[in-house]
Amino acid sequence: MKLEQYIEELSTLVNVDCGTQTREGVAKVAGIMQQLWQQEGWHAEQIDLGEAVGPGVFVCNKPKASEFDVLLVGHLDTVFPAGTVSERPMSRDENRLYGPGVSDMKSGLLNILWAMRTLAADHKDRLSIAIAMNPDEETGSVHSHQWIGTLAKHARCVLVCEAARADGSLVKARKGMAGYHLTFEGVAAHAGNEPEKGRSAITAFANSVLAINALADTDRGTTLNVGVVEGGSAANVVPDKLRAELDVRFWENDEYDRVSQALQQLCEQGFLEGVQTHLTRVNHKPAMAASEETQLLMRLVELAGQEEGIKVTWQAVGGGSDANHTAALGIPTLDGLGPVGAGFHSPAEWLDIASIEPRIRLLKRVVSML
Ligand SMILES: [Zn+2]
Repeated sequence: MKLEQYIEELSTLVNVDCGTQTREGVAKVAGIMQQLWQQEGWHAEQIDLGEAVGPGVFVCNKPKASEFDVLLVGHLDTVFPAGTVSERPMSRDENRLYGPGVSDMKSGLLNILWAMRTLAADHKDRLSIAIAMNPDEETGSVHSHQWIGTLAKHARCVLVCEAARADGSLVKARKGMAGYHLTFEGVAAHAGNEPEKGRSAITAFANSVLAINALADTDRGTTLNVGVVEGGSAANVVPDKLRAELDVRFWENDEYDRVSQALQQLCEQGFLEGVQTHLTRVNHKPAMAASEETQLLMRLVELAGQEEGIKVTWQAVGGGSDANHTAALGIPTLDGLGPVGAGFHSPAEWLDIASIEPRIRLLKRVVSML
């Protein structure tokens, strides 16, 4: 494998500021990926997903096919704000590459390309292969999950090519998550002259936090985290407004049903007389659990690993990805088919250089065995 060519291609992708909000950067990466695939002779088109986000990219080997043997999924965006690339462009030491999105997940996008580049012609003839790259995974795929879902419904299986975990494990299950905004509306009053006329949004919020935390069930992995709070204006004013953000995580979708119902009930009841509580769900990813069909797909990946001399291990992880959405549609879905990396969403993000070539071989072998 021409590793230096791969690293060169990777640097052209990493050295573009392409946080979800930086639409022109996402569009630039979309353009680079589209061109790379076209050079391989594959059909590649940009998909308009609305004005709020950059374009997606759809690639396939059989433009007339309406059913796919496999849908390979990756995302074009990162979590990093504009300016990150000039602060810390892609760099390397002996064993690792560093830079924004180097393993989450520019290298995943490239591993798909490199695996398909050298896929034997008879498999390319036999299989209908589709690839979807979306522009907004890092903000919950709000504008792209319908598009990916529609493609997934026409696919026999979905392989998401986010990085493998630091120990090399692939991902068989992911927690579901739901994000909420909470607002508290009370009554402002002078804290010295007539405090009795006030209704404190902050006191109501304080009452709410412990009640919300009590909905957790740590044995089942259901957790709630109030992660953002802002409210009040001055110490001598009874505060009439407060907003907070809540993150809910769960392994089981019926656990989420329980929490969601309880949250609604609690907020309807309110936490302090005279203070209104409003609850708005802003995003939601169902939990990804390994169904029976998914377990068959896992056996196939393990077999592919045996043939390539790569030990395949699995992890269930707390973070969500597009795999949550496609698994919830009932399509067998696995994740972590990219190279090995860690430190995602932080300046410490790294990619293990030695894992690039074997993970390309693994992905190619899996596809050829479908
Ligand atoms: Zn990612």
